[in-house]
Amino acid sequence: MQYISTRGKAPELNFEQAMLSGLARDGGLYVPRDIPKMSHGDIAALAGLSYEEAAFRVMWPFLGESFTEEEFRGCIERGYSGFGHDARAPLKQLGPNHFLLELFHGPTLAFKDFAMQLIGQLFQTALQRSGERVTIVGATSGDTGSAAIEAFRGLDNVDVFILYPHGRVSEVQRRQMTTPTEDNVHALALDGHFDDCQARLKDMFNHFEFRDEVRLAGVNSINWARVLAQVVYYFTSAVSLGAPHREVSFTVPTGNFGDIFAGYIAKRMGLPIQRLVAATNQNDILHRCMSTGEYRTDEVIPSISPSMDIQVSSNFERALFDAYDRDGAAVGQLMDELQSGGFSVSQGALQALRETFASGRASEDETRATIERARTRMGELLCPHSAVGVKVAEEQQIGEIPMITLATAHPAKFPDAVEAATGIRPGLPPRMSDLFERDERLTRVTNDLEAIETLIKERIAK
Ligand SMILES: *Cc1c(COP(=O)(O)O)cnc(C)c1O
Repeated sequence: MQYISTRGKAPELNFEQAMLSGLARDGGLYVPRDIPKMSHGDIAALAGLSYEEAAFRVMWPFLGESFTEEEFRGCIERGYSGFGHDARAPLKQLGPNHFLLELFHGPTLAFKDFAMQLIGQLFQTALQRSGERVTIVGATSGDTGSAAIEAFRGLDNVDVFILYPHGRVSEVQRRQMTTPTEDNVHALALDGHFDDCQARLKDMFNHFEFRDEVRLAGVNSINWARVLAQVVYYFTSAVSLGAPHREVSFTVPTGNFGDIFAGYIAKRMGLPIQRLVAATNQNDILHRCMSTGEYRTDEVIPSISPSMDIQVSSNFERALFDAYDRDGAAVGQLMDELQSGGFSVSQGALQALRETFASGRASEDETRATIERARTRMGELLCPHSAVGVKVAEEQQIGEIPMITLATAHPAKFPDAVEAATGIRPGLPPRMSDLFERDERLTRVTNDLEAIETLIKERIAK
């Protein structure tokens, strides 16, 4: 299985290379050259399997020769062993034909653990084999960073640096990043927004001298291996509601378009998904783009669902690549236009996107009202991101086809917003109840590429 760049100018890589490098050298994102198909029978056979076995069957065709079957099964087993729920991704009914897919039972209480725990194991396996060392740098609006640190802390061949926007992540998120004591963990608080963190990260990847010197590896949602890990729960949840004999739809709280893009891959593989609905908060570039065809960046307005406070939605480039019939030059052109504020999606591409994707937006008031209503009417405490999803899903007029809304984080990760809406302060699960007593360790950095690169070089030289 080979991987190609969405901008068409980087060398093709195999799975392991694409995973270790993250961003392609032409600035594009890696996607599989061909999407493996699962037959009706293959999908039906997933019913009743453990999450781990289903994960193996769904992902294996994408790996090619990179890992042995035994290595890969070991990575899956170890990756998901720290989850606090046997089903890993349990499904709950919210209302008539409306279901909630709980993706927050991992070690950092957000769906990012599904991908990060697995790729921590895959990196470890690949690097042990080659004896190499890499420097992982990630940008986070909160949850990616905590999930990455949790997945890579203490691993032998890796240093992990996480850039997060200072003062703009929740206290639980920050503490999950700043309290691990391992020497290979470095939490960097940047003066700026998440988009600044993401922009500096991209700069580092495009600065080849630095990239090669520190052996930079990326684990942001642009990393193909992360997208792949997220494909699995689309299959397990759909099958438990009757797929492949029956269609399902999903609503996905969206920021960087990674999670929802995994749903699109599941559909391309043969899962009968009728619709994938992108749910945004007030930072609604994706909803505006789907509605009007205009992809124009705006100021980020901080919200109570901070993990979706994003204006530049990196993985959308992957969806555009397919919508433009895999024309890398056309995608490269759009991304150039984005540098000066935005671009218009062509009519044909917009039509292609709308065949699969729909979209909606929830304001802050609507999000709060949904958290409150879910509590009183459905007995469910939702995190603000999941509430954005539930609100947008309900607008879709759920009919015969079941709607599955992804619950992307545990309410205890955003206790202030949940308490403000419901009067109830959600408690952390017992396994992490001492989080607020642990010491914190972080480094403040300015929004300056050179300063950040110098700091990273100094730290890894030790
Ligand atoms: C990261 C995150 C999202 C957005 O996911 P994308 O893959 O970036 O679209 C939504 N909710 C929570 C809780 C997250 O951590």
